[in-house]
Amino acid sequence: MDIKDKYDVIIIGGGIGGLMCAWRLMENKKDLSVLILERGKALEDRKCPILEGKVKKCIKCKPCSIMEGMAGAGAFSDGKYNITTEYGGWLPSVMDAKEVLDYIHQADHILMKCGASNERYKPDDELKTLCLRYDLHMQQAEVKHLGTDANYSTMLKMIEKLSDKIQIETQAIVNDVDKESHKVFFTQKGNDKTVYGDKIVFAVGRIGNRMFDAWCEKNSIKRTNNQVDVGVRVELPYQVWEHFSSRIYEPKILYKGGHYGDVTRMFCFNERGYVVTENSDGVLTVNGHSYKDKAKQSENSNFALLCSTFFTEPFDQPVEYARYVASLANKISGGYVLVQRLGDLMDGRRTTQSRIRQSTVKPTLDAVPGDLSLCMPKRQLDNIVETLQALNYVAPGTANYDTLLYGVECKYYSARPDCENFELKQAKGIYALGDGAGFTRSLSQAAANGLIVGDILTGKRK
Ligand SMILES: Cc1cc2nc3c(=O)[nH]c(=O)nc-3n(C[C@H](O)[C@H](O)[C@H](O)COP(=O)(O)OP(=O)(O)OC[C@H]3O[C@@H](n4cnc5c(N)ncnc54)[C@H](O)[C@@H]3O)c2cc1C
Repeated sequence: MDIKDKYDVIIIGGGIGGLMCAWRLMENKKDLSVLILERGKALEDRKCPILEGKVKKCIKCKPCSIMEGMAGAGAFSDGKYNITTEYGGWLPSVMDAKEVLDYIHQADHILMKCGASNERYKPDDELKTLCLRYDLHMQQAEVKHLGTDANYSTMLKMIEKLSDKIQIETQAIVNDVDKESHKVFFTQKGNDKTVYGDKIVFAVGRIGNRMFDAWCEKNSIKRTNNQVDVGVRVELPYQVWEHFSSRIYEPKILYKGGHYGDVTRMFCFNERGYVVTENSDGVLTVNGHSYKDKAKQSENSNFALLCSTFFTEPFDQPVEYARYVASLANKISGGYVLVQRLGDLMDGRRTTQSRIRQSTVKPTLDAVPGDLSLCMPKRQLDNIVETLQALNYVAPGTANYDTLLYGVECKYYSARPDCENFELKQAKGIYALGDGAGFTRSLSQAAANGLIVGDILTGKRK
């Protein structure tokens, strides 16, 4: 389909936030003309050569099929939908938490229409009590775990249904938006193009954060910095946490370490999963995923262990800080990510290929054996070791010698722009939502945010 000169709504980014926004626009006003511009590929063309088994190490494809493309960063995720406002983003700080929860339920219904199951893990007070005995604070929620495979087919169905009603352009990189004329400038397969949008929505996710932040800076739009989380991905035999995962699927546990008083979070649990790399705008970091299909499962589970830092004056670039730490790990691993056994870290020595070969835990990612203490700040590393030791009380085996630590994993949350009902204060008719605007950090809240903005744009919500 040819691209028209103008649209009622242009959504920049085809992640879950952008897709849900388009879905709601179509539910509320079928005759709206809506265009999604997505810088990555169509979902069915997103093929990570590592996941396809063609290469062992990240070859930094452009675009990165894990992070970019239709269905966004969540496309190859584990598909954990957390039915809660307790975590997963900061929407409850800008609107009523009950309303946010209602939108999360609405998003869930839409996903079910596209094939997602309704199976849920329920909170478990017995496990929470066990954690409390060791000063570990487990966050409780109902969790749906689709698994990477079912999540993919759900998103594919959603995009298919939307494609009949709206226009979707892939490999269309938005470079600029003129806040006065509402012209959107983008490059598609080497050609520069311009299109007008009556309303424009930035739904660019974490991968688009740098572009959006620079755009806000250029257009004098104030932002409030968010926290930054830096740490490692932990991998161990699946049996160690099975007594938790079989009951609640995902243990999300907070620990306030004694020495610094910082909060370290265990989250993003992937049962019998795989550690993966992600290319965050040129910097390689780690993440994890897992399949529902038993035939594809590994012998290990993995989870993120990250320490949160809030910077105060004079430093105001938390995202650059995290990128710097991660790029140091890339540098000392010859352009890749590191893996170290906990025992080696405690003994003050690097992990080597031969030590990895002797390890009882077989890594699911072919990372470079090395020494995390050479690239990760002492404070974060101390917090991680302290937290692993605390977690060992409720899941003995967590702090075993051969527990693998991959680095660096970081989650940086975009600075939040000055908005009123998600409309940028200094840019009328231009909206921002989801992870890229610092409102969310999960599938369920990003999805809810898309629906909310869809309702605002069609006058269903003031
Ligand atoms: C490996 C992995 C596993 C995860 N697992 C889970 C999980 O199990 N549960 C959970 O709740 N969360 C998970 N997350 C986080 C979750 O995926 C995100 O919170 C969610 O995808 C955010 O949605 P979004 O729409 O705001 O942004 P995104 O999904 O990041 O989508 C933004 C889209 O915008 C596009 N874009 C960016 N800049 C431009 C531009 N200039 N022009 C055009 N397009 C642009 C990007 O290519 C991208 O497709 C995971 C993330 C990763 C990477």
